[in-house]
Amino acid sequence: MLAIKTRRLLTPLQELRNAVVLIDGEDIEAVGLQANTPIPEGCEVWDVGDRIVAPGLIDVHNHGANGHFAREGAEAVRECCRWLATAGTTSWLCNIGDLEGIKGAVEVLRQGRGPGESSIEGIHVEGPFLYPKYLPGESTDPPLPAELSTYHAFLEACEGYLVMMDCSPDLPNGLELIRETRRTGVISCFAHGNADYDLFMRAVDAGMTHVTHTYNVMSGMHHRRPGVVGGALTCDAVMCELTADGFHVHPAAMDVLVRCKGLDRVCLVSDTQAAAGLPDGVYNWSGRIIDGEFGWTDVTLIKKDGVVLLADQDENQDGALSSSVWPIIRGVHNMTYQVGLPLKDSLRLASLNAARAAGIDSHVGSLEADKRADLIVIDEDVNLYATMVAGEVVFQSEEGRSVLVDA
Ligand SMILES: [Zn+2]
Repeated sequence: MLAIKTRRLLTPLQELRNAVVLIDGEDIEAVGLQANTPIPEGCEVWDVGDRIVAPGLIDVHNHGANGHFAREGAEAVRECCRWLATAGTTSWLCNIGDLEGIKGAVEVLRQGRGPGESSIEGIHVEGPFLYPKYLPGESTDPPLPAELSTYHAFLEACEGYLVMMDCSPDLPNGLELIRETRRTGVISCFAHGNADYDLFMRAVDAGMTHVTHTYNVMSGMHHRRPGVVGGALTCDAVMCELTADGFHVHPAAMDVLVRCKGLDRVCLVSDTQAAAGLPDGVYNWSGRIIDGEFGWTDVTLIKKDGVVLLADQDENQDGALSSSVWPIIRGVHNMTYQVGLPLKDSLRLASLNAARAAGIDSHVGSLEADKRADLIVIDEDVNLYATMVAGEVVFQSEEGRSVLVDA
């Protein structure tokens, strides 16, 4: 058994001073104040002193990292798992948009977590049911209908691991697809579309409960045309993702989201892709669906100054950012230091809320007895000193890893 002692622990719903976490194998045995949580005889003790112990971070929208897209196969998925461990992310959903790419993730899910890895908890498909015009750099062709047979092909390929399916309700047959997603027990997410407010609310009636990267690639809020953003901000039935890397959404808009949704209905996501963790440069990877086909094409991406752009666009074009390159720990930092949330609440958006969003909060998302021993050790500035997954220390750094440096 292991006892981790700290002067400050964030569960994240509670803040405990002079606390201890008792870990037995892969799971948390107890969490409490040192004064009334006896450490068993012979127990190994790790005292982190003034450093903060918090739940491991959970990312429900992540395409890849460190030179690998999750769609590239089982080994690429494991590479992502290892890199995410170094960034404090202990659980994640692989975001994969094409049928072929799902195989590797399913293989890893079947085999289970390996040493040094964060844990994949399922698959999020941001794939065939996006409105083409609302994919950066994509064609203006009319969209293909959202075919239930295509959805079922994905459901089958995921072998029970499909957690989230994205759909733009303005596609022909979009509402039907949302109903079917809901009917088959998968979380239906709004993504990449230009629905107006009324259509968005019809999608919610049909069973949509989650909004991907709120504000990005969706109709914005005008006071007479509240759009998807107006619906997302005001409808309590939906959980809103937020890419809080500091580039995708202005801090004031991040603040508006939390003020409207409260602390229960926002979850931070990274939306990272393969360029996360790599130095600035021009990369040639594939990553998008063209013309409704499940084909992948080479697209030149430029990583520079914290963002990734498609080579033929510039940052002044709306939607030109191509995913992100920052793990969600950066979002925790930004919610605290750009928006002004208490650290406890910023952590909650990236742990417990994300776990609830993915329906995995029965075993991860907070520090409490009987949950998996997934935690991070950080300081006040959100520098990362250690990551633990299922009781295994998968990352440790004496100087601390800064969230402000990505490679
Ligand atoms: Zn997206």
